[in-house]
Amino acid sequence: MSLYRDTGVVLRVHKLGEADRIITLLTRRHGKVRAVAKGVRRTTSRFGARLEPFGHVDVQFYTGRTLDVVTQVQTVDAFALPIVGDYQAYTAAAAIVETADRLAAEEEQPALKLYLLVCGALRALADGGRDASLVLDAFLLRAMAFAGWEPALTECARCGEHGPHAAFNVQAGGLLCTRCRIPGSVHPAPEVLLLMAALLHGDWDTAEDTTHAVRRDASGLVAAHLQWHLERQLRSLPFVERRAREAPLTAALGSDTRARQAPGDDAEHTNDTGPGSRDTPADTVAETVARETGPGEAEVAGAAEGARHGGDQGDAGA
Ligand SMILES: [Zn+2]
Repeated sequence: MSLYRDTGVVLRVHKLGEADRIITLLTRRHGKVRAVAKGVRRTTSRFGARLEPFGHVDVQFYTGRTLDVVTQVQTVDAFALPIVGDYQAYTAAAAIVETADRLAAEEEQPALKLYLLVCGALRALADGGRDASLVLDAFLLRAMAFAGWEPALTECARCGEHGPHAAFNVQAGGLLCTRCRIPGSVHPAPEVLLLMAALLHGDWDTAEDTTHAVRRDASGLVAAHLQWHLERQLRSLPFVERRAREAPLTAALGSDTRARQAPGDDAEHTNDTGPGSRDTPADTVAETVARETGPGEAEVAGAAEGARHGGDQGDAGA
């Protein structure tokens, strides 16, 4: 029997049989690890409560024939307790662990940077000192940089020309200069792009000195950029996005911004003047981008419903 030990964050848990669970951890040295925790669903389990999502734990495993088996667990940080008691923190944390699970696709592939990003973000959510949606967006931007999907926030994504540029296009990889601009681009307010850059680089003074509207539009762009790069929708993100959609758009894509554009200077604006235009100023950045690039809203809402009602039960039979 071969034993090893590592520190990791619990990304998710699946029920297995009557009393066991399969635990997915993102570990410091072994990347993503899936292991069986035996008897953890019994009330007498020695370590059941420590192996809940968001738990930061030190674990001893032995190498099994198919899955490794958890033999000892010690809590490193009790992130889960404060996070599950706060709805905003909980939805942000759920999106963080699910994104980490997706990005650390290969098991046993070292992903130290991602592990440190997850720990930092969960610690910030557990501390409660920062706005949960800013913590989430900072994590998502840095995780995308880890994955090689960092959006271009100052230079043109296509030709590299230094900005500032006005057009942002998820499919193209971020900002586009006037020469490279393509139909379907959105025009976020400069403050939105400054916020995204501040979150990417950990400039919290700048990030926290922003309005709710700017944060909301930045969240929409970050979510759209991430979703474009992931092959399928995250189950957790629609919760965050829905909050962002509740209020009408103001700062980033207001009609005054559009009015300054020459009429018909791209396809989107041509639509503005046509009869039955879908493109009203009330659109959020996320909706605009989702409509151009991704699945429809019904599908997003369906994914959210599935996440709410399915969850662990859905996984139980797997
Ligand atoms: Zn360009």
